[in-house]
Parts: sequence; C-alpha cells; structure tokens
Amino acid sequence: MGKRRGLLLSAVVRKESKKVRIGICPGSFDPVTNGHIDIFERGSKLVDKLIVAVFENPSKKHLFTMEEREDMLRETTRHIPNIEVVSFDGLLNEYAIEHGATIIIRGLRALSDFEYEFQRALLMKKVEPRIETVFIMTSTQYSYISSTGIRELACFGGKLDDMVPDYVEKKLREKFADKYNA
Ligand code: ADP
Repeated sequence: MGKRRGLLLSAVVRKESKKVRIGICPGSFDPVTNGHIDIFERGSKLVDKLIVAVFENPSKKHLFTMEEREDMLRETTRHIPNIEVVSFDGLLNEYAIEHGATIIIRGLRALSDFEYEFQRALLMKKVEPRIETVFIMTSTQYSYISSTGIRELACFGGKLDDMVPDYVEKKLREKFADKYNA
C-alpha cells in the first residue's frame, strides 16, 4: 500500500472511530423510578450520549403530565453527565433517526416484560432496520418496581423508600394531596 493511501485510510479510520454513538431510552416514566434510573446509569456507559425520551403512551392513562414527568426525570438524572431528557410525540423510529440515535435501550424485568418488548423490538426492526434495540436486565433490587405499583402505593399513602428518588416521592405526595383536597 502506498504511503498516501495508508495516510488516507488511517484518516478514515480516525473519523469513523470518532462517530458519536447515541442511544435513546423511551418510556412513559409515570413517574420515573429507581429501576429506570439504574437502567439510565448503566445504559449511559454504553453510548456517548443517552437521550431519555418521554412520550405519551396512547394505551395508558397518565397520572403526571408530560411536563411533570420531564421535570422529575431532569431533577433525578443530573448526576449522569451524558444524558439529555426530551419529550416527544409521534413515531419513535422517526424521532431516533432525526436525532442520530441508532440504539434503543430498554430495561427488562420479568418474563412478562419479555413478550411485549420482543414484539416491540421486532416491529422496530421492521420499520427501521438501522436501529438496534438493546436490553439491560434489571438489577435484582429493582426487579419488582414498576411505575404502576408506585402509583398504587402512593395513592394509598404507602411507603416508597428506596423505590423512587426523594424528589419523585415529594411530587407523588403533592399529587395525591391535591386529589384528596379537590
Ligand atoms: P412504557 O410505558 O413504554 O412501558 P415505562 O416508563 O414503564 O415505559 O418503562 C420504560 C422502560 O423501563 C421499559 O423498557 C421498562 O421495561 C423499563 N423498566 C421499568 N421499570 C423497570 C425496573 N424496575 N427495572 C428495569 N427496567 C425497568
């Protein structure tokens, strides 16, 4: 190989290796739990930038508004340097490609998550083959935590220790206090 061609090739390799890897963690996060935050912390190490994208899940009735969910996510992920919290509505594949994200990161708890996630990942592959869905197994201490369970516990004034950040617990208490006082 000539010297000039060798130089060109190494420039291409350098440029390639500089490519920023962007991941996206989509969810309704109603509200964000310690289980989600564990996935963000671990997922953020796999990419240069991790977009946490809050969306309106049409099949769910939400307790918190999109703005409230986004605010809780921002407040509780400040310690993760390469994270960006956004909200969006529309198609996830279009949003991801527009923002340069090629990896979708999802958390997996039990077998019940698997079937739903498996179908979503296959559907995503069909509509957008450039995107890979990557799963991170829950940490055992968070395996039983779901936003639904947290909302139920909070609704009846149950203890939320170690399940959600303090900021989220405060917001839940305020939300249910408002409901009872309404
Ligand atoms: P969605 O409304 O799309 O189900 P969620 O906000 O409930 O989204 O969850 C977003 C992602 O976080 C999903 O991949 C879900 O499986 C994952 N997740 C939720 N709770 C936990 C947990 N305790 N441990 C690990 N992953 C979790």
